[in-house]
Amino acid sequence: MESQRPNAKTRRVMVGAVPVGKGAPCAVQSMLNAAADDVTANLAQIERLAEAGCEIVRMAIPRKSCLDSFEAVCAASPLPVVADVHFDADIAIEAAKRGAAKLRINPGNIGGLAETDRVIAAAREARIPIRIGVNAGSLDSELAARADLALPEKLARSAADYVKHFEEQGFYDIVVSAKAHDVMTTVATYRMLSAEIPAVPLHIGVTEAGTLFQGIIKSASGLGILLEEGIGDTLRISLTDDPVEEVRACWTLLAALDLRRRSPEIISCPTCGRCQVDLIALAKEVEGRLRSVSLPVKVAVMGCVVNGPGEAADADIGVACGKGSGVIFAQGKTLRKVDEGDIVDALMEEIGRL
Ligand code: SF4
Repeated sequence: MESQRPNAKTRRVMVGAVPVGKGAPCAVQSMLNAAADDVTANLAQIERLAEAGCEIVRMAIPRKSCLDSFEAVCAASPLPVVADVHFDADIAIEAAKRGAAKLRINPGNIGGLAETDRVIAAAREARIPIRIGVNAGSLDSELAARADLALPEKLARSAADYVKHFEEQGFYDIVVSAKAHDVMTTVATYRMLSAEIPAVPLHIGVTEAGTLFQGIIKSASGLGILLEEGIGDTLRISLTDDPVEEVRACWTLLAALDLRRRSPEIISCPTCGRCQVDLIALAKEVEGRLRSVSLPVKVAVMGCVVNGPGEAADADIGVACGKGSGVIFAQGKTLRKVDEGDIVDALMEEIGRL
């Protein structure tokens, strides 16, 4: 299928200064997991997330008593902060007044459409968008009970009905998500949403995807399909881990799909019987050192001089290892030979020159 990226069909929504939709680069987001009433911890986490390339951050406001800390975080945050609110429209309304760059609610649990309308009025007043976030675990009970619809249809129908309601109120500043923890359910749901509400920017993600390894694979497989089909204006990879890992995973996925790139990509061989160095340790060391580099370069770490440079000919810089040494090369051409112990420093030096 021909790529239709980036998605130009959707409307533009601004989350603080970050554009979402209408062909804007797919925005990377994550969610804070420090205690909601701990301003210092949340700001420290935002700093780490921003460094990793997070562009939009979401903060839960579980109780009214957390509104003061939410306001303080919004005031000091370098990133736009989205208020995540369940069950209590008054909290969402107050968050809109206190600096939220966007509200994330599920109309199904915020108290029905009358309460939702109060939140819409507050967002309109504050000139901020709302994400309508539906998920499989909190579907409207009537819809959930329907035997004639499969889960993706229920999720898409639920989200599309809410969109219709928002638009009937004259409120178009919306983003939609409809997530499930099952990958193919999520893919089917977003395909339906993209067809049914093509103008509405979509926040894509596989919810409750799991711990680091499984979560990244589930998210990347599902979101990779969607992004390749031109579906998705902003993404979050939900992991049971440090949110910084979510951001790194988002960027790695976007780079793998050639959509966006902000950090180095490592091309490293799987090693074979020709390899005469500890290449796994070497590649990991290079990866660690490259974390502080914000340059979209391709760095190759290859196990042998026979095939290495050829297999990584498109790398901006690379090393092909021999016995006790490595040949540093750029775009397939040899630059110099260094001792095994100097390989990483030599690579970093050449990257510095780039
Ligand atoms: Fe084997 Fe060399 Fe290829 Fe690495 S680059 S997998 S060591 S042939």
